[in-house]
Amino acid sequence: MGIYLDYNASAPLDPRILDVMNNVYMNAFGNADSRTHTYGDKAREIVENARKQVASLLSIETNEVFFTSGSTESNNIAIRGLIEYGISIGKKHVITSSIEHKSVLETVKSLKSIGFDVDIVDPKSDGRIQIEDVLSKVKPDTLLVSLMHANNETGIIQPIKELGEQLYDKNIFFHVDATQSCGKLVPELKNIRYNMLSLSAHKMSGPQGVGALVIRRTNYKLPPIKAITYGGQQEHGIRPGTIPVALVAGLGAACEYAEKEYSSNYNNCISIKTGIINVLDNSGIKYVINGDGTNCMPNTLNISILGVESEALMLSSKQYCGISNGSACTSHDYKPSYVLTAMGLDDERIASAIRISWSGKTNKDEVIHGIEHLVNVAKSLCF
Ligand code: PMP
Repeated sequence: MGIYLDYNASAPLDPRILDVMNNVYMNAFGNADSRTHTYGDKAREIVENARKQVASLLSIETNEVFFTSGSTESNNIAIRGLIEYGISIGKKHVITSSIEHKSVLETVKSLKSIGFDVDIVDPKSDGRIQIEDVLSKVKPDTLLVSLMHANNETGIIQPIKELGEQLYDKNIFFHVDATQSCGKLVPELKNIRYNMLSLSAHKMSGPQGVGALVIRRTNYKLPPIKAITYGGQQEHGIRPGTIPVALVAGLGAACEYAEKEYSSNYNNCISIKTGIINVLDNSGIKYVINGDGTNCMPNTLNISILGVESEALMLSSKQYCGISNGSACTSHDYKPSYVLTAMGLDDERIASAIRISWSGKTNKDEVIHGIEHLVNVAKSLCF
């Protein structure tokens, strides 16, 4: 199977987090919303502790954290949850970008069918959205701007901090999809102005199937976001359904470890990236980095090895390393990457693009070993 290098799709569960979850599954099986017995109290205590751990990672209040099943659901609630309010005040314009994850892009596009006006901004060839391009789309009836912090395919970090400052006084909701950066760009995320933020545990070595939508309060009041599904009053009615206590505990633990171990994780990620680039530079193959390498996640590298089709390379190097050529969520259709296409890269470069991603706990020597094999396979396909 080789070394796993597809952490942006999903990171393996940290065994310490599995221990936390096992303990909850075995010892705290109550419903966190049960009020008639101590089993409920115990589960609720665990959920509230996890809420504190998420809040601490982001330097926000605990009553601003709403647990969901992951970023797809968080993104849907952030966007569709504002429909009723937007209609009621006559603000029906939404801005997003063409490189968003489909859970944002398709959700925003869906608003067109109910009479909303949608603007989709393209990035430059370096993979970055320009602040001016977003601001130039703002209109008196702009309700929401939804942009990602770091792109899942390229790792390119978007100018969210600057944009947050610009939008702050404009009475426009700002939603940030921080799925790829949460727990990795820790100080950055503590200092960004936003109204809503989406995160998913499995990108931070936590369990799959749980995440959160952060909704910031203004003067102690939540924005007028409505639930998009009907049910109970859990999570203030914003996300009905029984809270999965063990999963939520896993998310909380992932946030706590991410906050405590941030520096060493960050440094290890950078050291791995430098190591991979050294191997590539010394290999004699022709390659280019896709996107602005200076504004990129420390754990992600998207490259095109010229003359080597990514599908052939991935299949032929499967026994050495598990890499990908883009988002796992869209890998069922063999269309070229919509992210790299939006960046205006040429067909050859897109057809040869591969994404390598890792974590702060990945073993550098094993990565180097895997990449050396990958390079040899690339050479055999190229020459
Ligand atoms: N946004 C981004 C940027 C992502 O990378 C992903 C997952 N690939 C999602 C949203 C959706 O997250 P989940 O699959 O956990 O719902």
